Amino acid sequence: MQGKKIFRCTVCNDVHFGVSPPEVCPTCQQHNVYVEIDAVEAKNITGLC
Ligand SMILES: [Zn+2]
Repeated sequence: MQGKKIFRCTVCNDVHFGVSPPEVCPTCQQHNVYVEIDAVEAKNITGLC
């Protein structure tokens, strides 16, 4: 996980793992809608561990 961050789409709650957020959300097609979140919040959203 080193260098990896977690981002969430503020429109559709899509979660993206990577070094930077996608320019366009692949789910809702909106631009610049990702915000960085922490692992706890990501777990709450995705239900994954
Ligand atoms: Zn989205």
